[in-house]
Amino acid sequence: MDSQMLIGGDFLDGEGAEQEIVNPKTGAVITRLAEAGTAQVEKAVAAAARVFPAWSATTPAERSSCLLKIADAIEKEAEAFASLEALNCGKPINAVRNDEMPAIVDCWRFFAGAVRSMQAPVAAEYLPNHTSMIRRDALGIVGSIAPWNYPLMMMTWKLAPALAGGNTVVFKPSELTPLTALKMAHLLSAILPEGVVNIVFGRGETIGNAIIHHPGVDMVSITGDVATGKKVLSAAAGTVKRTHLELGGKAPVVVFNDADMDAVVRGVRTFGYYNAGQDCTAACRIYAQDGIYEKLVADLAGAVSTLAFDRPDDTENELGPLISRRQRDRVESFVTRAAEQRHIEIVTGGGVAGERGFFFRPTVVAGALQDDEIVRREVFGPVVTVTRFSDAEQAMQWANDSDYGLASSIWTKDIGKAMRLAARLRYGCTWINTHFMLCSEMPHGGMKQSGYGKDMSIYALEDYTVPRHVMISFAD
Ligand code: NAD
Repeated sequence: MDSQMLIGGDFLDGEGAEQEIVNPKTGAVITRLAEAGTAQVEKAVAAAARVFPAWSATTPAERSSCLLKIADAIEKEAEAFASLEALNCGKPINAVRNDEMPAIVDCWRFFAGAVRSMQAPVAAEYLPNHTSMIRRDALGIVGSIAPWNYPLMMMTWKLAPALAGGNTVVFKPSELTPLTALKMAHLLSAILPEGVVNIVFGRGETIGNAIIHHPGVDMVSITGDVATGKKVLSAAAGTVKRTHLELGGKAPVVVFNDADMDAVVRGVRTFGYYNAGQDCTAACRIYAQDGIYEKLVADLAGAVSTLAFDRPDDTENELGPLISRRQRDRVESFVTRAAEQRHIEIVTGGGVAGERGFFFRPTVVAGALQDDEIVRREVFGPVVTVTRFSDAEQAMQWANDSDYGLASSIWTKDIGKAMRLAARLRYGCTWINTHFMLCSEMPHGGMKQSGYGKDMSIYALEDYTVPRHVMISFAD
């Protein structure tokens, strides 16, 4: 198992405090790793700065070629990456193997292509005797900080557009899930020039904090909690850094009487509980119209109670445990507080499962009201609420009444109605008659306190580059 950080081409042990990396399925310690010392963060930023002029001056074709090699190398080792990710996160192996790994490889390949075909206004004489043209240049050194829910995928979403755009990077995985990033360190160092990517390990309050405050870092890209995003914003004020914030979510799922109920139940069973609900787009906040409310609650409870999460043969499992004891306790406390309210009924699940590890039963909370904590706050666990509504106006108002603005969905056979309502939802994404589906060509990112900045798509490449105007005078 790879355990060293990558700093300026060197593989190094951390000089800071030791952290335990825990298997969420059993609670057992997988390994112990020392986090970086602050001097090592300095070294990483210095290495990224040293190589920036050379890397940013490479042609798009050269960078594209590196990204394609990275994609090929990951694909070749996909099984090893999948096993490591499954071990560190407790994910079912099939989810990583069949869903995450192909999406990761595709994302690297997408940016390899995208960087060779960026668009801009045509060069022209917008003022007489002056020719204007647009360049898109690298921003500099990106401090990149990832969460624990999809460690390798978030690393990919951050590194691929940053590198394609000509930036150099200091990357920090979550202190809970560094194993695939440390494996990636070897893969990346065999393909990229020294210092283009540096990988430092450590906690948010120590190493993350050092990165976001570092005056040599030009841009901070973070996926994490809203509270962490706010810290990044205030740190960024010091040297006016660019920020790219992918924060939490609380996706509304608006289900009308005329929806295909089988599709809704199948969809919420899958997209509300994928990755044990530790997903910022999870289909977790259902608004069900009164004509189908009772049926939806009953059918969903039945369907969710069949989710496999504790089978000895892991290939049968559909979800895993929560990432940590802390996260499981947090989810449990949300459900316990909700269950104390008279109007709420826990129709399936509702508690911790098993003796070992951090499992929580897939849970459906019926009768939830708009102002309930469990409807308003991000639970980030296998918990879906169902709230009854009568008219579309009410549903739209409740759906938009959230601090979050990442993802949403509308379920109806009336496509005209769906399109009218989709235009009014204040979310970075609205799915119609589905949920959760992502592709490399389309942007993923939020509005409101879910943050801003897009992952994937050409918009991410734009976020990691700056348009610059160059004007030539040819007056006599
Ligand atoms: P977190 O904010 O605690 O940690 C995210 C990362 O930030 C970690 O690497 C952590 O070490 C680092 N960090 C924490 N405090 C920091 C600080 N003061 N300075 C610098 N870095 C710091 O979040 P988490 O618990 O790892 O992830 C779960 C959260 O991420 C959820 O709220 C979820 O909704 C959100 N998320 C959002 C998206 C998205 O695309 N919008 C995707 C995945 C997860």
